[in-house]
Amino acid sequence: MSEMPLLSVEGLKKYYTVNTFWGRKRLIKAVDAVSFQVRTGRTLGLVGESGCGKSTVGKTLLRLERANSGKVVFDGQDISNLEGKSLRSLRKNMQMIFQDPYSSLNARMKVRDILAEPYLIHGLAGGAELHGHVSRLLDMVGFSPETGNKYPHEFSGGQRQRIVIARAISLNPKFVVCDEPVSSLDVSVQSQIINLFKRLQKELGLAYLFISHDLSVVRHVSDEVGVMYFGKMAELGNVKDIYEQPLHPYTQALLSSIPIPNPIAQRSREQIFLMADLPSPFNPPDGCRFHTRCKFCSPSCLSLDPEWREVRKGHWVACHLY
Ligand code: SF4
Repeated sequence: MSEMPLLSVEGLKKYYTVNTFWGRKRLIKAVDAVSFQVRTGRTLGLVGESGCGKSTVGKTLLRLERANSGKVVFDGQDISNLEGKSLRSLRKNMQMIFQDPYSSLNARMKVRDILAEPYLIHGLAGGAELHGHVSRLLDMVGFSPETGNKYPHEFSGGQRQRIVIARAISLNPKFVVCDEPVSSLDVSVQSQIINLFKRLQKELGLAYLFISHDLSVVRHVSDEVGVMYFGKMAELGNVKDIYEQPLHPYTQALLSSIPIPNPIAQRSREQIFLMADLPSPFNPPDGCRFHTRCKFCSPSCLSLDPEWREVRKGHWVACHLY
């Protein structure tokens, strides 16, 4: 498997200007100078509390949102400023799956027509060939060809997410952003969908950006993990390093909250509680953005934004302790 990055993101920024209740304009730095890479056939898990900017990263990569600055190179091509036909053609290779399979599918269309739509939009197939593509997609996600004659409301949540996945892979993309794809599903169904993601990755060589607030799920699916806090990347590394030797105090706190199946180990483990609440996005802390909640905070943390540094091979962290 290739070790070259399929996707390389450097200094990605996405800021929003919002009107406050008092009529003043305020800037929200939803994503602030985030950098990472995703390799062919691999999964980068992106974790963090809700509102930390992880979904905005996904949308900005696919150009559903326009970045303020930063460079995104996909498959050797700088796609940061693509427009028109080139952008549409890029979308064949980059797809996104959202959390809610209920609202992702057109309730008035049969599943067969939903899966045929991408081929028709891009003028890629018709007639018997199109019929064959749709039957193949249904088979890949575990449905018989006859299933295509049903409407989305006739399926359960997990089955609908299978249909969403089938549509996402229809045009043979290389990269899929999965934004909380199992969060709305029952726990028993989650593992089936995760296994489907893994099987399709193996069969099709897909790369995933897997966005989730569920650290157990991310551990199960990811090769590398990025931890975001308040619009910035706090830590990034391979899954073993992040889960077994987390460096950033925020990562340590997040991981300490995952329950361990062994009750004896669970009792003896120290849970790290975060001090204070998440700061207001209108008023981000100076220096290290985590300093208001960090028990290791020192005077330099109050005014100096820590550098994003590679402290071990492939293990990056933004903290003055390293
Ligand atoms: Fe804590 Fe300082 Fe590290 Fe920020 S830079 S995480 S405040 S020790």
